Amino acid sequence: MIWSFALAAIGVAGLALAGSRKKIGWAIGVGAQALWITYAVATHQYGFIISAVAYAWVYGRNWLRWRRDELTGEEQSHIIEFRDDGWTIMHPLSCRPNLFSCPMNRAIRNVDGPPPGGVGRYRCSLAGDDRTLVVGDRA
Ligand SMILES: [Zn+2]
Repeated sequence: MIWSFALAAIGVAGLALAGSRKKIGWAIGVGAQALWITYAVATHQYGFIISAVAYAWVYGRNWLRWRRDELTGEEQSHIIEFRDDGWTIMHPLSCRPNLFSCPMNRAIRNVDGPPPGGVGRYRCSLAGDDRTLVVGDRA
């Protein structure tokens, strides 16, 4: 019983780290699945093995994708650069084929100026309505 709680806690910690853009979180997730498989065998609950393999597959894939994107230096987000005299939006490579129809181009017209943090580069995204630009962390 205590083991299943501990393993779930490790998995949740890994997901939380991944949510904070730490790719080690995915690695922890993969490691937690190895422990789940050990747990499944030790307690004869073999059904857990199937879910552990499925989770490990997804975590491992995310981990490798992030690593690849880091190695190629490819930015995944839109970046907006605020300057004193205006702004520039930079699209990720995945946007290139449809650059002119990218909804960010329209959304950015409604932006008044830099966020309270001042001029500089920020990651940005679209709100759920696909019209409102959301300025996020500094890039
Ligand atoms: Zn774009």
